Parts: sequence; C-alpha cells; structure tokens
Amino acid sequence: MKIRFEERKVLKEKPDFNNLGFGKYYTDYMFMMDWYSDKGFTDPRIIPYGPIEFDPASLVLHYAQETFEGMKAYKTEDGRILLFRPDMNAKRFQRSNARLCMPEVPVEDFIQAVNDVVAKEKDWIPTAPGTSLYIRPYMFAYNAKLGVHAADHYKFMVILSPVGSYYKEGLKPVSIYVEDELVRAVKGGTGYAKCGGNYASSILAQMKAEAKGFSQVLWLDGVEHKYVEEVGTMNAMFVIDGKIVTAPCEGSVLPGVTRDSMIKVLKDKGYVVEERKLSIDELMEAAKNGSLTEAFGTGTAAVISPIGVLSYKDEVFFNNNKIGEISQMLYDTLTGIQTGKLEDKYGWTYEVK
Ligand SMILES: *Cc1c(COP(=O)(O)O)cnc(C)c1O
Repeated sequence: MKIRFEERKVLKEKPDFNNLGFGKYYTDYMFMMDWYSDKGFTDPRIIPYGPIEFDPASLVLHYAQETFEGMKAYKTEDGRILLFRPDMNAKRFQRSNARLCMPEVPVEDFIQAVNDVVAKEKDWIPTAPGTSLYIRPYMFAYNAKLGVHAADHYKFMVILSPVGSYYKEGLKPVSIYVEDELVRAVKGGTGYAKCGGNYASSILAQMKAEAKGFSQVLWLDGVEHKYVEEVGTMNAMFVIDGKIVTAPCEGSVLPGVTRDSMIKVLKDKGYVVEERKLSIDELMEAAKNGSLTEAFGTGTAAVISPIGVLSYKDEVFFNNNKIGEISQMLYDTLTGIQTGKLEDKYGWTYEVK
C-alpha cells in the first residue's frame, strides 16, 4: 500500500505530558482511506488532523454503521516504539466489519496504516510510567442515503491520542454494580464485534451505576440475566478457589486481546484458567464464603482494573479494596512486555519502523 502524505503548515503545541488524562489531546496527523463499492479501497493518506464534513444524511449518523479498535504504542527506554499484538486487532477489526457488512481492511494494510502514522507522530509518545500513545482505528458508513442498507462509501481512519496513566498511585480498585435488567449483548447480536452501537446502548446502565455511587457495571447475559459476561467495557476475570474463571467468547462477549494475553500468561505460570459460564449466584456465594479472592476487568486502556466492591441486589461485597497478588502480577507482566522492560518470550511486540 502506497500512502501519500500531506504536510500541515503549523504543528500543534504539545500538551503537558505529565497531565494527559485520557483522550483529551490528538496529534498533528491522522490516517484516512476511502472505500467505494465500485473501486474498493483507495487513496490511503496521512493528512493533518482536523474536522471532516458530513452530509446530514450520512448513513453512520442515522444507522450507526461503525466499528473501531483500541491499541497503544509505547516508547522503550532505548527509544524503540512498540505495538502490542497488532495482528490481533487487525483480525478482530475484520470480524467486526464482517458482522456490520463493512469492507475488511487487509491485515497488512491495517498494520501499515497504524505503523506509518505512529512513526510520523513518534514525538507524541509520552514515556513516563503508565503513559502511552493511544491508537484508535475506525471505520464508518459515509455516503448520504436514508434507506437502511450497506453503504457505497466508507472511511477507514486512524487517530492518535497521548494518554496518561490510568492509575496515578498504582492500581486502584473500582466499585461495581451488577446490572440485572439492562443488557449489553445477546448471542446473534453484535456483542463480539467492537462497534459504536454496543457502546451507545451501554451508557444508560453506566449512568444508573454512577447514580447509585458505583463506578462501573457488571453485565449479565442477555437471555437469563444470570451469567456474568463483562465489566464496563472490559472482560471480567475472577479468582475462585485459586482458579481463574472468565466467561467464554461465544457471541456476546468481546474477545479481548488483553484477556487472551492474560490467559496465556496465567497458564504459563501454572494457574488453572476456566473459560466457562459463571452465574451471579455462584459469584456472590464465593464472595460471601471467602473463596473469591480477586476480581478484575481486563482491557487495553487500563490493562487491568481490580474490582474492590461488588453490589448485587441488596448485597455488597468488599474485597478490602486491596490489589490481589495475581492482579498485580498480570499488570506487571503485561506492561513489562508492552514497554520492553521484560523479555517478550511470546513474540507479542511489534517494532514500529
Ligand atoms: C475493547 C473491549 C474489551 C477489551 O479488549 P482489548 O482487546 O483487551 O482492549 C472488552 N470488552 C469490550 C466490550 C470491548 O469493547
């Protein structure tokens, strides 16, 4: 793929890299490529970051035909730039697009687009512990048409945002509200796809949790409202009787890259990992009798998010608000590999050139 480059006249002033927050700042350039039903993918380009024009009847604005990915680039102590398992994101993007009837970007083109725009913006990668350059590849239906149908014109884009540490003083446990009415996904729906629509429909439950004083939602399955699926926008893992239990990816659970990596690290270290249905009753019972020793969410943005408080119906379970041993080990191992501090024996890192 030959990517054209359009230079911007004035570069932005860089933000204070010690106070980045999440998704507050965007870099100087972005990647864009169009797809037309009669031409396929065309005009890959790196252009100045800036607003896009939309026809008021653009399909995405009405029917939410949109998919995305979330990745991070890290700068190592010796100045190399690393991505973490970008092929996994490329392949998941294809599966999401197939579900939403959108064109699939070839894996090598997806990786090249990310590589080239990150390489161009290497001065925007923060280096303090916990910071990184967040990468957001996405695609949406662009042409104007009010009939519900696949589009004739899509845009594939990649934007970049330097982000701060999720945890300023080390890992911090969050409080979770178990949502037993609203659902995130059902088998046959779009739960396994990373698409904007899943998020639009999740906000109400998130607001409900916040209004009750909790920071995130634990989602139960959409049919029986019984089995634990995900936590907020992360996969969920529980340590029960020393074994790690996580929901299987069978249609309604998003197959996380972090989830997959942690399962491999855990098995490698001799832990038993069970990908199985876990009912909320079993979970609350384990919380009550003490066999539940750790609970956490996993995802690219936070890597790991320990659960300190779990609330279901009128019961509240407190995990002493401490960080578990396994949670800390997983955080240290993953971030160590991602930032080049630990040996990458799995071959997960990809050097941006
Ligand atoms: C992105 C996402 C995750 C985490 O996936 P990672 O690849 O680990 O970042 C989990 N659940 C949902 C619903 C997601 O959208």
